[in-house]
Parts: sequence; C-alpha cells; structure tokens
Amino acid sequence: MNKLIILDNGHGKDTAGKRSPVWTDGSQLFEYEFNRDIVSRISFMLTKEEIKHSILVPEEIDISLTERVRRANELSRAWSGNAILISIHANAGGGTGWEVWTSVGKTKSDQYATILFNEAKKMFPEWKMRSDTSDGDLDKESNFTILAKTTCPAVLTENFFMDTEKDCRFIMSESGRDKIAKMHVSAIKKMVEME
Ligand SMILES: [Zn+2]
Repeated sequence: MNKLIILDNGHGKDTAGKRSPVWTDGSQLFEYEFNRDIVSRISFMLTKEEIKHSILVPEEIDISLTERVRRANELSRAWSGNAILISIHANAGGGTGWEVWTSVGKTKSDQYATILFNEAKKMFPEWKMRSDTSDGDLDKESNFTILAKTTCPAVLTENFFMDTEKDCRFIMSESGRDKIAKMHVSAIKKMVEME
C-alpha cells in the first residue's frame, strides 16, 4: 500500500464560467466549491483508511495548470513515482451522467480509470455511464494538461453535469456528494492494492 494519492480539485473561486445556471429556487452550484467539497470528503475517508494522500490545491483561488503539474510531479518524485493523480470535476455542456478521462494511448491510467468506472456504475445504477469503447477501454481520452504532463498515472472524473438541473440537484445534495466521495474511495482502495 505504498502509494500516494494526489487529489486535484480544479478551478478557483475566481474562475470564470465554472458554475451552474441559477435555478428557479435561487440555488446555484460553483464548481470550485463542489470539487473542493468532494476532495475534502475523500481526504477524510482516506485518512480513516490510512491511505496516504495529498490535496494538490489547498487554496481557494485558481492555481494554474503549470503550477498544478509542477506540484504533482514534485510529489510523485518524492514517492519514487508511486503516485496516482485523481482530478475531480463537475461536467458542463448539457449532458447527463458520469464519465472518466485519461490521456491518449494505453497507459497504467487506463486500468485505474476502469476501476473508477466500475465503482461509479455500481454506485449510480440509475444514472447514465458515459463511455467510449472505440479504443478497447471505457474511459474517454484527451491530452488535458493535468493528464498528459503529469509524470505519474492520472485520471479525471467528471461527476455529473452542473448545467443539467437533474444532475445539478443531485450533486448539490448531501446524499449525492456522499455517494460520489464513497465511490472514489472504494476505487482508490482497489487502486492502491494493485501490484
Ligand atoms: Zn472542471
């Protein structure tokens, strides 16, 4: 179990756009708050499980991707490469459901993404699992900076859509957030046990 989990909570209080519409009851979700809340719930549970982890962005403000990658690579180096980065997000663009991303091509990250996907599928049976099986695995692939420039395996989860009301209500709710955090922790437990 000698692995470090790096939890990346993207976006800051000052990041433009990363928010839901204002719903009819006046409620609104800000992605920076959601990402940080999920990361702190995961951190609390990992501490109880005695799984070593680090929160990449303790600040509330937006930290540049270059700096986040620098921090992640420094942590990974300190752990002789035995680190896994998980970046937590809420999706936007008018869809529904859950998805996970890795960098392009076959890497160790694909195995971790598959573990996350299967835990999400189990935790959210009533929700759409958004997958891309064209390349032989379930994750979606893109060379996002945080995935492609990090030296350790890295995955990014998009936890439902903040601009779709049904999804947004779910991720604003206590039970939704609890499930999202628990699902990541079940996956992380499996990841740290691997090889
Ligand atoms: Zn995001």
